[in-house]
Amino acid sequence: MLIEPWAETVDLRQLTEGAKALDSADPLAYARALFVLPEGVTYLDGNSLGAMPKSVMPRVQEVLEQQWAEDLIASWNRHGWIDLPLRVGERIAPLIGAAQGQTLCVDSISVNLFKLLATAIQLQDSRSVILIAEGDFPTDGYVAAGLALLLAERCEIRRVPIAQLPSVLDDSVAVVMLTEVNYRTGERYPMAELTELAHDAGALMLWDLAHSAGVMPIHLDDCNVDMAVGCGYKFLNGGPGAPGFLYLNKRLHNRVQQPLAGWLGHAKPFAFDARYSPAAGVARYLAGTPPIISMQALDAALDVFDRVSVHAIRQKSVDLSRFLLEALQGLDVLETLRCLTPGTESARGSQISLQHADAWGMSQALIERGVIVDFRAPDILRIGIAPLYNSFADMHRCAQALRDVLVSKAYDDPKYAVKLTVT
Ligand SMILES: *Cc1c(COP(=O)(O)O)cnc(C)c1O
Repeated sequence: MLIEPWAETVDLRQLTEGAKALDSADPLAYARALFVLPEGVTYLDGNSLGAMPKSVMPRVQEVLEQQWAEDLIASWNRHGWIDLPLRVGERIAPLIGAAQGQTLCVDSISVNLFKLLATAIQLQDSRSVILIAEGDFPTDGYVAAGLALLLAERCEIRRVPIAQLPSVLDDSVAVVMLTEVNYRTGERYPMAELTELAHDAGALMLWDLAHSAGVMPIHLDDCNVDMAVGCGYKFLNGGPGAPGFLYLNKRLHNRVQQPLAGWLGHAKPFAFDARYSPAAGVARYLAGTPPIISMQALDAALDVFDRVSVHAIRQKSVDLSRFLLEALQGLDVLETLRCLTPGTESARGSQISLQHADAWGMSQALIERGVIVDFRAPDILRIGIAPLYNSFADMHRCAQALRDVLVSKAYDDPKYAVKLTVT
């Protein structure tokens, strides 16, 4: 259906007033001031690269000017660089429902998946299948496939639509790997239920929390999850290329090996023993020297979670999503773009995904109007919602800008014919 300019069903004043009222009643409104956000920009891509907390700049400056430039190598001890992966891991732990001693800040998701999937195969002597869902983030599947290639007949991939998971869980499955929130649709899968299902079939359960950590309560211990990985630069706001994290349930500690046995995962790295002897617990998942500057940035970024409950963050995410969907509906946008994100609130992450053949042009036209969203091939416009710095007014601006783009057909401009390298 063609969009009419400002259809009569739309009460723009009501929308503006609604956003204003909700923003002034918002208990998390204060948190926006904890971030650096460029003037005139509505940033709705925190699910891809979180905005920068103000606490980051002075920390990185201190790390450069004081710790590195002045104190040099003494900083490994003096400023606790050597303990940083465990310390930052413990700061992430409460956000993912992990008791102490199970979370490590280390490497990227891709590398951490390799380590944990290899561990899972080793723990499951007679089982060889890594079960994954169709449509999950490609890197997860690539890493699994790379491992399968390496391990030959010891490891194979089975990829099915998520709905078929229960029917293919047999005694060949070593580990089920799922992303809690799908990066394309924003659908959230029930962690407790699916973990129990995997366990009932004798499989281990590995969750990828890339799109959930920092934006909703997660209960890894309570769900008895075996393994998890997550991202430092999305909703944890650690900055581009920030290290990720890895969780290993303490039930499995000391039974596990990891394939990237490096010196910093050794029980005594500075004994320089020729034989490898792993550190106790999760620390053995360290391999090489951590990126200290990046990890310090992430550590400082985590300050924004100090005084806020993740339940409050989730509540605001749900409220913002509902408001955005109502605004898009009210402005007739959803008659042109199809909403891929589930209607049920508990089945949503913290993004709204809209599908249209011209989604690329639409994303670019929105960005030109100061509304930063992103695009996922072939036809998805993603609107990320970061409750710590997004407001109801942001949702309103996004809906209105998208309507402008549709009415003006700005997305059709030939300048959008070629896609950028990063979308
Ligand atoms: C962002 C994301 C990743 C990123 O992986 P890196 O190796 O850390 O770059 C992995 N998995 C999912 C589901 C993601 O959304």
